[in-house]
Amino acid sequence: MRVTYLKRPVIENLLNYASGLHPKESILLLRGKVSKDEVSVNDTVIPPFATHGKSFSAFPLHMLPIDFSIIGVAHSHPSGVLTPSTNDLNQFYGRIMVIVAFPYHSERNIAVFNHEGKALKFKIIDD
Ligand SMILES: [Zn+2]
Repeated sequence: MRVTYLKRPVIENLLNYASGLHPKESILLLRGKVSKDEVSVNDTVIPPFATHGKSFSAFPLHMLPIDFSIIGVAHSHPSGVLTPSTNDLNQFYGRIMVIVAFPYHSERNIAVFNHEGKALKFKIIDD
């Protein structure tokens, strides 16, 4: 997988949602498409059984409905650390993991990772 594309409204949703729940952790599901070399994220979805303030590692991802348009999960790090923890990687769901870190100002506070915890390049699509 070479590139992840995030639509501009997705970036804004991630930042606003994380900021609104700070200092609690926020979790959003990522809806989009996967092809051989690319992942495109078009939309965010609030998890059906979201309990705000639950940490990502305590979140029951295995209870998610089977929905192949969900291609990953985003969660916030109120600590400001822009890297996944070991627990995060153990909870990996889908193709990408997005972390949104305090202070949630811009895409510079967002990072995309693969299941190994390697940072992936991402591009923002304005449309
Ligand atoms: Zn985390």
